[in-house]
Amino acid sequence: MAVVVQKFGGTSVADPERIREVADHIARTVRRGDQVVVVVSAMGKETDELLHLASQVSKTRPGREMDMLITAGERKATALLCMALHDLGIPADSFTGSQAGFITDTTHMNAKILEVRADRVRAAVEAGRVAVVGGAQGVSTDHDVTFLGRGGSDTTAVALAEALGGVCELYTDVSGVFTTDPRVVPLARRMSRISFDEMLEMCAAGCPKPAMRAVEFARTHGVDLHVRSAFTWEPGTWITKKESDMEDAIVSGVVGDDSEAKITITGVPDRPGVAAQVFRQLADRGVNVDMIVQNVSEQGRTDISFTLPADGLDETEAATRELALEVGADEVTADGSIAKVSLVGAGMKSNPGVAATVFETLAANDINIEMISTSAIRISVVVAGDECDRAVAVLHTAFGLDAARS
Ligand code: ADP
Ligand code: ASP
Ligand code: MG
Repeated sequence: MAVVVQKFGGTSVADPERIREVADHIARTVRRGDQVVVVVSAMGKETDELLHLASQVSKTRPGREMDMLITAGERKATALLCMALHDLGIPADSFTGSQAGFITDTTHMNAKILEVRADRVRAAVEAGRVAVVGGAQGVSTDHDVTFLGRGGSDTTAVALAEALGGVCELYTDVSGVFTTDPRVVPLARRMSRISFDEMLEMCAAGCPKPAMRAVEFARTHGVDLHVRSAFTWEPGTWITKKESDMEDAIVSGVVGDDSEAKITITGVPDRPGVAAQVFRQLADRGVNVDMIVQNVSEQGRTDISFTLPADGLDETEAATRELALEVGADEVTADGSIAKVSLVGAGMKSNPGVAATVFETLAANDINIEMISTSAIRISVVVAGDECDRAVAVLHTAFGLDAARS
């Protein structure tokens, strides 16, 4: 009998009816003869709501208490799903992350898994019961409840699949990984397969599904992932080691991300050590800098622009103003309404002209490019925030990714 780890995201268990539908899906898998371990997220937008609640109650929000609060969302979902399974005659037990043996470090709000002692989960499935585990949580080496971070339930599922030697299925509200967000571009196509490397580039470019840490874990431990719909039985997308065998597909996917902001420092003295000083101090403040562009200097001065998550913009802008004074730069400007649009594809490695086609397509559609960065299998451009969806759609068409219109 194969062990199947099935993870259901927040939208899949958003209300009582969906919880019963998910229970029905699990029951069918059990009746097919598989041993099923389930990982579940908090219902709907509950994690966001709990975060908001905390911000209304407290200014300090200690990490230990935040983790206790947030993990309550997943805990509720496990109990409700078990109740729905019992109604269908399927014996099932709920487990917190701690009960399921997830030992983590002590970093609250973003704990790392150190070990999975899956004995209780294994014993439950061997006794013919479904184990329903709360996602994104564990217990720290200090015996405190920990939260693995946003999107952490995907990581819980992959780690359990690896610990139990099982298959990992990530169920969500769309039927797989698409060539771009199907909610933005209705002509997006579901990919039947994508390699870990390409998926990681898509995650880094801002694709929300699956969570990047889960894909990294899966790649490191060789766990194949199957992303599929919680409400249909159609096959979804396999994420595996093997690169796509569609040799003619130079670009596999297009990702739009409007969650970043841009800061520009103008008139930066062009001498060794200035960039080091600026970015060291930003790093020490925990600023997660993404793209960096420095212009050719003119009369000993240059401009440096960088992107960062938009939710830290105000603080980082203030810190950058202080830094600009320190290094003798002229001015700091910030733009919170930018978008990063990225094309990802292993075929780019051996095909020249991808960048040129990107720039020509955007130019033909009158979309201005503010920044450019590339890796071996990705090209990203920064455009105005309100051009994001249009830029994604025209590039999706230009690279032949649109599904045939029905
Ligand atoms: P879950 O709650 O199941 O963890 P998320 O809400 O985190 O799922 O992510 C699923 C959403 O990701 C989908 O509803 C879809 O709109 C969005 N999405 C964005 N880009 C893609 C893509 N390339 N393929 C599939 N889904 C995508
Ligand atoms: N519920 C958490 C979140 O929304 C964890 C998860 O579901 O992955 O980020
Ligand atoms: Mg999610």
